[in-house]
Amino acid sequence: MSSLIRNAPSCADDREPGVLSVDAARTHLLTQVRPIAGIERLPLRTTLDRILAEDIISPIDVPGHANSAMDGFALRYADLDPEGRTELHCIGTAMAGQPIGKAVGAGECVRIMTGAPLPEGADTVVMQEHAEDRGERVTIGSGERKGQNIRLAGEDLARGSVALERGKRLTPADLGLIASLGQAEVSVVRRPRVAFFSTGDELRALGEPLGEGDVYDSNRYTLFGMLSRAGVELRDLGVIPDDPDRLRAAFEEAAAHADMVITSGGVSVGDADYTKQVLAELGEVAFWKIAMKPGRPLTFGRLGNAWFFGLPGNPVAVMVTFYQFVLPTLHQFAGETDWRPLTLQARLREPLRKRPGRSEFVRGVLAQDPDGTTWVSSTGAQGSGILRSMSVGNCFMLLDEETGDLAAGELVPVQPFAAFM
Ligand code: AMP
Ligand code: MG
Repeated sequence: MSSLIRNAPSCADDREPGVLSVDAARTHLLTQVRPIAGIERLPLRTTLDRILAEDIISPIDVPGHANSAMDGFALRYADLDPEGRTELHCIGTAMAGQPIGKAVGAGECVRIMTGAPLPEGADTVVMQEHAEDRGERVTIGSGERKGQNIRLAGEDLARGSVALERGKRLTPADLGLIASLGQAEVSVVRRPRVAFFSTGDELRALGEPLGEGDVYDSNRYTLFGMLSRAGVELRDLGVIPDDPDRLRAAFEEAAAHADMVITSGGVSVGDADYTKQVLAELGEVAFWKIAMKPGRPLTFGRLGNAWFFGLPGNPVAVMVTFYQFVLPTLHQFAGETDWRPLTLQARLREPLRKRPGRSEFVRGVLAQDPDGTTWVSSTGAQGSGILRSMSVGNCFMLLDEETGDLAAGELVPVQPFAAFM
């Protein structure tokens, strides 16, 4: 008789029934969570990183008139001798904000500064470095092109066209673009309100002494950081011990005030974890086993009017499940269309062991050779409690279920998290 004991599926198993793939779990989340409806109209400067709630239609041509892209001379191209030099009579100067107010006739030119409206009659600007300037007499050489150095009216934005589409997260460039249309206020989607707390009898808040077997609560700090970057309104409910009444009160409080509730810990198989029991009473939640490492247990569903994510307790698993599941859901919930994390291909610096049957999110360090080749190496030990791997690393290697052992030099997909998330 075998001495092996396997009375329940565990994260050490390869494949087993009832286990969801990472993609299936993500698709399930994204098909359920619709964007928030609330809209706020705000002064332009306060809308950086907010989600645009309506299309911005340009009421004007930008630029409003054809103007010079250079300091130089505005002239009629037909006047120029294509083979030799041409002398023109300079009739004045046009500056930005000060149109010259007269037309350029045959044999004439106008001294023009960058941004100045192109005078009537002129169709070409010759940069001043290509001209001999002797006051009223200006000589132009050969080799100029018709229409050069002119910014056309409406070439940045034509009147009536969509300048920015709703669902876009506003960047510094977008703020400038909206300003260039003369618009002082913008409609943006209301920020999601997210409440979060940690669960576990062993967790101590910072400043408390550690007893035997205790650990400091780090998950609330990584969650705080990731949620802050996601641009949501936060409500931190602290550490809640493994006590059904305290948990029930915390869940009720969180769900009453937030659009989304996120907890960590208490969703794996463990005697002192009352989270599952209380959640089953209060809401409609599903307990998922996902074919991934780390981050296998995940709970998702509704708590009253709020969405709920119960993340695993292990510090790395919290971050991986946040980036892979919570963040895409949160972006969609916040009204952002087309958010997608960047994925690159990088060469493995050293061989890597990988068991087929589950997705692995190996923390890696991306680096580039002087010739531009992108390399990735593992941060080392990959235990789901080794938070340092997330701190040293700057990317996840995305090793899918089918992937097995990898040789040095093989290309693997990587998802940078340090700069982008
Ligand atoms: P659990 O999912 O509650 O069984 O927790 C799994 C592991 O993660 C245990 O070793 C916990 O001590 C640890 N853990 C849970 N919550 C936290 C937290 N907030 N900060 C640091 N470690 C935690
Ligand atoms: Mg626990």
